[in-house]
This record gives sequence, C-alpha cells and structure tokens, in this order.
Amino acid sequence: MYEKLLSPLDLGFTTLKNRVLMGSMHTMLEEVDETFERMAAFYAERARGEVGLIVTGGIAPNKQGLALPGGHPLDNEQLAQKHRIITNAVHEAGGKICMQILHVGRYGYTADNVSASDTKAPISPFPARALTGEEVAQTIEDFVHCAQMAQLAGYDGVEIMGSEGYLINQFIAKKTNRRTDKWGGDYENRIQFPLEIVRQTRARVGENFILIYRLSMLDLVEGGSTWDEVVQLAKAIEKAGATIINTGIGWHEARIPTIGTIVPKGGFAWVTKRMMGEVNIPLIATNRINMPDVAEQILQDGCSDMVSMARPFLADADLVVKAMENRAAEINTCIGCNQACLDHTFTMQVCSCIVNPRACHETILNYPPVTTEKKIAVVGAGPAGLAAATIAAERGHRVDLFEAASEIGGQFNMAKIIPGKEEYAHTIRYYGEMIKKHQVNLRLNHRVTAEALIAEDYDEIILATGVSPRKLAIEGIDHPKVLDYADVLSRRVPVGKSVAIIGAGGIGFDMAEYLSHDMAHESPTLNVEAYMKEWGVDMEYTRGGSLADRPQPLASPREVYLLKRSKGKHGKNLGKTTGWIHRSSLAMKDVKMLQPVSYHKIDDEGLHISVGDQAQVLAVDHIVICAGQVPFNVLGRTLSEAGQSVHVIGGAHEAAALDAKKAIKEASYLVASL
Ligand code: FAD
Ligand code: SF4
Repeated sequence: MYEKLLSPLDLGFTTLKNRVLMGSMHTMLEEVDETFERMAAFYAERARGEVGLIVTGGIAPNKQGLALPGGHPLDNEQLAQKHRIITNAVHEAGGKICMQILHVGRYGYTADNVSASDTKAPISPFPARALTGEEVAQTIEDFVHCAQMAQLAGYDGVEIMGSEGYLINQFIAKKTNRRTDKWGGDYENRIQFPLEIVRQTRARVGENFILIYRLSMLDLVEGGSTWDEVVQLAKAIEKAGATIINTGIGWHEARIPTIGTIVPKGGFAWVTKRMMGEVNIPLIATNRINMPDVAEQILQDGCSDMVSMARPFLADADLVVKAMENRAAEINTCIGCNQACLDHTFTMQVCSCIVNPRACHETILNYPPVTTEKKIAVVGAGPAGLAAATIAAERGHRVDLFEAASEIGGQFNMAKIIPGKEEYAHTIRYYGEMIKKHQVNLRLNHRVTAEALIAEDYDEIILATGVSPRKLAIEGIDHPKVLDYADVLSRRVPVGKSVAIIGAGGIGFDMAEYLSHDMAHESPTLNVEAYMKEWGVDMEYTRGGSLADRPQPLASPREVYLLKRSKGKHGKNLGKTTGWIHRSSLAMKDVKMLQPVSYHKIDDEGLHISVGDQAQVLAVDHIVICAGQVPFNVLGRTLSEAGQSVHVIGGAHEAAALDAKKAIKEASYLVASL
C-alpha cells in the first residue's frame, strides 16, 4: 500500500523518510504574539505525523520583500536564534524542516513595493518601483544572507520561492521585466537573477544543506515563459546547485483556478511529468493532491519523485501516519474550500481549517481524555452534530447521536452534488469512520422529541438541528412553478429549461452552477482534460504561459437567471479567494445576473420583477428560492424549561450565511470544554 509514497528519498547527504513534502503556507502565525511557540507547536505536530519534509510559510529576505508592513524578515542572528524554537521542536519530533525565502515583489501590500520594472500588479493597489542595479545585487545578497541565517537557525534547508508571480518570477517574465541592463532583455539575461541567488546561496551554505527551488512550470498569464524556457531554467537551476525542484503553478493574478475545490485532484501533475527526465534532481508535483491514493498514483504514473501537500496538513496532521497504518479512511480530508485557510490569510486572520479548527490553534484547542464520563445526546448529524458527537466520544463521553434522515451529513449531502463540490463527500466519510471508531451510538431515521430526550436523563444535550429554508412573502409563492433549494438538491424535483433563482448568496451560486451544468457530461472537476479545456489551459503548451486561445466551457442546458435584491456585484460576500471563481464559472455558462431586483408576483406567465425601475416578466418554467435560511430549533425551549443542560450549535444557533466553518468550530470548542 502506498509503496512509492512511503519509500525514502536519498538526497546524498541526507535521506527523507518518505516522498511527502508539506508545502509552504503563510498561516498568519508568523504575525501573532508567541509566534515562535505557536509555529513550533504547529510544525512539530506535523513532524510527529511523519511528514517527510516540511517547508515553512514564506519568510522575507529583507523589508522590501514583505507582503505587509510590520512583518519580520530573517536578516539577523538574533532572530535566527528565535527560529531555533521551531527547528528544535521539529527535530525533537523526528522531522526535517526547510524555511521558504519569499520576496513578494510587486505583490506587496505596501507603498514600498519593488519589482524588476515599474509595473503594477492587478492584485495590489500599490504600484511597484524598479530596483536599481545596485539594489538587485543587494537583493541577491539578502536572499543568500537569509539562507545563511536559516542554516544558523537550525533549518535543514531552504526553499527559494521562484514561482506564483512573486519577485523572482517578475524578473523572469518579459511582461514584468522591461529592464535594459544585464538583468533584462533576452531570456538568458532575465533568468540570471534566480540563478545568481541559487549559485551564491549554494556557495554560502555548503553542500550539505537542502536547497529547493520552486520553479514556475506553468505561468498561466499572457507573456509567461514557454515550455522550452522553463526547461532551460530548470537545467540551469540544477547546475547552479539546487537539490530539489518544486513545481509552481500559475501566478496569483492568473484567472484560472489552480487550487480551489473545483480543480481536479492532482490536476496539474501532468506539468511536472513533462519535466521528468530533463533534470537529474528530484521533482515535486503540487496542487490539489489531498489523499495518499492520489499522491501514490502520481508517483506510480511517473509524474514526479515527490508530492507536495499543504492544506491537507491543516485538515489532518496525521495524514501520513494514517497512510502508513492503512487507515486512509480515517483521514480528515482537505476539501479545497479555502474558507478557513487562504480566505483567512487574505483577510489577515490566523489560518485554521473548516474541518479541523485545531489547525494553527494547537496551543489553544485540545481534546484531552475526560476524567468523568458524561452521557451526552447530540441531535442532528450535520457537520455541527457530527463534530460534536465524534469529538465528545473521542474524549471518552458516552454519546447518542440522533438523525432524522436516513444518512449522516445534513446539508453537506446537498453541497456534495454541486459540480465542483464533489469533495465535500469526504467530510461525511470521515465522520462516518469516526462514529465507528469512537463508538458513537448513531440512531438514523430517528426524529427525536424533547420528551424522549428528557426521559433519558442526559448530562448534556447538544442541539445541532440545522436550518430551514427562508420563506418569501411574494404573491404566488405557492404556485407549482416555485421550488426551494432542498426540493431541487435533496428531493431532486426535475427543473425545466428556463429557471430563475431568487437569492445570490452561496447557495444561490451553487444552485446556478448545478442548473447550468449538463448532467449528461461528468463534472470537469472529475476530468483533467475537460477541466483544462473549460478554463482555457493548453496542455500542449503551444505558447508562453500555456494559455489556450479561449476557454471552452460546456454549454448550459438551461437558461438560468440569478437574481438579487441588493445593488452591486453578484457574489461580493463569497470567499475572498474563491468568489471570482464562482463568478467566472457562471459567466462562462451565460448565467444572467440581474440586480437590484424587486419581486412582484409569480403566476402562470412566470416571475414578475423590476430590475431597477424596469418592469419585466421572466417567462421561466421554474423559480427556485435560495433566499437564505432560518435556524431550525424546535426542541430548545422545552428542554431548557425542563431544566436540561442544553447547548445549541451550528445552523440551529445562527443561520446567517453558508457556514460549516462556524458549525464545526462551535461544536469543537463546546465539546472541548465538556
Ligand atoms: P445541518 O447540516 O442542516 O444538519 C442538521 C441535521 O439535523 C439534519 O441532518 C437534520 O435532518 C437533523 N435534524 C433536525 N431536527 C432533528 C431532530 N429532531 N432529530 C434528529 N435529527 C434532526 N457551508 C460552507 O461552509 N461551505 C460551503 O461550501 C457550503 N456549501 C453548501 C452548499 C449547499 C448546496 C448547501 C445547502 C449548504 C452549503 N453549506 C456550505 C452550508 C453548510 O452545509 C451548513 O452551514 C452546515 O451544514 C450547517 O451544519 P449543521 O450541522 O448546523 O446543520
Ligand atoms: Fe482545506 Fe478548506 Fe481546510 Fe483550507 S479550510 S485546509 S481548503 S478543508
């Protein structure tokens, strides 16, 4: 089982215990009080989980390289000594750790942005100033000095971040490098910046220090490198002294999703495979590799020598151990939602994970065994109830879990059928395994009553009964054309050829995705070629950046309108890092987004509305209501009045937004305290 994945990798001067790299993530722990202690706890837990090699979040080599003002570049010995808290903890846990050196260049969120030339990134409000020739030389020295400080700090190596559109990439690509000195001009000149960094770093740190270079193998932007150029750089990087080449996919400003849940599993491993055989040092495949079987397949297919997984180690620190012990079904799988990780980083909050609120909170949230066993009832087996029941049982409580439906999962059973959200099924599978492992007494098809709960004399009752769809007060709301989202997604009521969706929140967007997808074709998330075609990636790499002439999405089988009452862009409250994906996906399918809409009535003609002050009738077959949810909690009052110890969590507590993150977090913190 996982023969290749779990086999060691000999680097000559050191051996990695397996082929798993925990990829770099800026978790914002870099910015908090007790930063080193919290990072040490975070990384050490993953080292105990047998990760082959960990790479830290990016650390700037100098002040200009910081993403935000106020961070800490690693540029002095005093700070290097503090990093020892991290390296010691990882080494004591039996792991190896490299520090990533990242200069963000024009992606900085500061007025001091610098780059190869005077340009402005579309994703930063601040323009960048071109570094002078002297400053370029100093920046190279800063990278090298930073690597030296990392060595002093006890790291096993460094990763030099040369991809995702950061400073090094900005030197390499013509579109961002318009210099006329020796660092600009033809490709040979433009790649001297990374080559000097690698060469001089190797000279400074000696032979026995891991040097990973993250190479942008697929820029996914106009004016990006051609494949021949990428190969030329890889060979030169090897010659300059790199130990390993890691794959970078897509600049941050690229308009093609590269890591969201919509991306097929292992969907970019084909890029690394093209590079196999071109160099003699190990290559690492990346992006949307979230389970050991996916990783093993990539290695078996000869796509790479190692695999990088980053977010999967937020979801489950023990992923590798579970693979080693043939317990992959027990892995809490990263579902690629970005809700608690990247969305947090981009809104300056400490990262965590939707399915594992302990991630990056290892010193704060723990589930120690209990000394006094309690008898606990959990009502509702959606995400909140599942987390509460399984963690309580893991701690040693006796737990009865009641679910009215015939299966566990709650609303995730609807989420998982949305094209692009298939991965949500993993969360249900995981909790199913935890129910068995921790011997939760699961009672399916059991709509429990307050009286029955009182009669059982529980110590604690946790209500996780979820939500009900919000009803709208529109004339004709009971017309047979009207459905709610649960009719469509849960009860699978057929929907006609034209449909208006009322409400453009998360569920409205998901509904539009579902109804605009032709079910005769499998979801592009399940097929790499279909996905690349849909989003306009040219797998033949005929021109620089690997972009195709145009995206070629599957046509929608329906005419779909997505309506919202408020004024302004659709989906502005969706996830910071994923909202644009949902908007682009629906735009490609020609979904018509109308706002601000007033709803007048529904009758045989269709839906009567005004858009602004323009009255019109949408002559649609169906109207699907996705206008939010209200808490569903019919038991709480009776139980409280009867003096029971009641806790209400998840949607039953507050149903404001699409929010399994809050549901699982509330459950976890509650049962950690019981
Ligand atoms: P629920 O999931 O609603 O579960 C409540 C459960 O309680 C149900 O299974 C119900 O049958 C049961 N129940 C109720 N009363 C009783 C009773 N008396 N006895 C026994 N059982 C009872 N959230 C996100 O964060 N990200 C997403 O991407 C996302 N996508 C979504 C897509 C869709 C299409 C939908 C519909 C929702 C999505 N959500 C998403 C929302 C997310 O699923 C909810 O926030 C989450 O499920 C709430 O969890 P919960 O456990 O509180 O409630
Ligand atoms: Fe993965 Fe979502 Fe957790 Fe991020 S929040 S690690 S994407 S499951």
